[in-house]
Amino acid sequence: MHSFTYTAYPARVVFGAGALQHLAREIDALGARRALVLCTPEQVDAARRVAELLGERAAGIFPGAVMHVPIEIARAARAEARRLGADCAVAIGGGSTTGLGKAIALDSELPLLAIPTTYAGSEMTSIYGLTEGAVKTTGRDARVLPRTVIYDPELTLTLPLGMSVTSGLNAIAHAAEGLYAHDGNPITALMAEEGLRAFAAALPMLARDPRDLDARGDALYGAWLCGCVLGAVAMGLHHKLCHTLGGSFNLPHAEVHAVILPHALAYNAAHAPGAMARIARALGVSDAARGVFDLATALGAPTSLRAIGMPADGLERAADLAATTPYPNPRPLERAALRALLQRAFDGAVPQG
Ligand code: NAD
Repeated sequence: MHSFTYTAYPARVVFGAGALQHLAREIDALGARRALVLCTPEQVDAARRVAELLGERAAGIFPGAVMHVPIEIARAARAEARRLGADCAVAIGGGSTTGLGKAIALDSELPLLAIPTTYAGSEMTSIYGLTEGAVKTTGRDARVLPRTVIYDPELTLTLPLGMSVTSGLNAIAHAAEGLYAHDGNPITALMAEEGLRAFAAALPMLARDPRDLDARGDALYGAWLCGCVLGAVAMGLHHKLCHTLGGSFNLPHAEVHAVILPHALAYNAAHAPGAMARIARALGVSDAARGVFDLATALGAPTSLRAIGMPADGLERAADLAATTPYPNPRPLERAALRALLQRAFDGAVPQG
């Protein structure tokens, strides 16, 4: 008998093609009357559509969301919400826009309604991040959890294929690490396996036709489940390596995830056989690490750190950093093995335990 603790987060989810049409109803259900709509500068058209649907419930649009939620942007958005008398925020976009909504909710307790348009999964977590100067601080706080999430696959039709693939692999990484998390449980494992299955089916279909609405629906469903896993359990080696490489060598976040995941899985494989069996089953392959590597390769995702700007002379320092900070992981952190992992990832070699 496996004893565990599971916290379910109480978001209301409205899912389906065209679900955006329920927005005004959902704002009313929150008991709110004036929504500040948040977006990136690139998604102003989508935000305008949201404001139109809201009609008199729209207080205004704040189109200033950017990566990593700089504190000055968060302050400007909070000031704008106060100035306009907004009593809720609607974030339409990816993790950066949801992150801005979370920063507002953290300070003001304004309820947040999220409309995700990528597969990042932030809308399902109570994790927030704020960047001051060059330093990003992350934390968990139940106040930042969106109260309502509208998943409308039609809104993801414009997500470019390359971003769909890397965002999908990022979500796959949350589910895969969730399956061997020290604080995982049977419920998060169900969500993780189903999320992996949904992405394994959807991503190859999207590679053939990025406007396939059924595949977009499957991918967004997978994103929801993988986001739940990220919100519920601790991540391990893969995420630690990605943060180390992204932070210390300024490599692109989503691409680093795509390169590292097969190698992190191979490193952990012998120490987490049950998780590997579930990942492999969800992907319909015999080996989890090789299956993820082959999927990423077939989808045209980057498979080597060299190709995404990692300097060869940074591998020793990356191995030091990865080996020295303690964090939960099925296999103990062995510097020589981590260095070998990084070399294979640098070269784009097939994963090996
Ligand atoms: P993003 O939100 O930064 O979006 C990247 C770009 O894609 C933006 O220009 C955006 O406007 C555009 N875009 C988004 N959806 C689009 C669509 N459907 N069509 C066309 N363009 C679209 O990217 P992301 O990967 O979703 O989020 C990354 C950020 O989210 C990172 O800062 C990461 O740390 C954070 N994140 C946080 C959590 C959490 O739980 N707190 C979870 C995952 C990611």
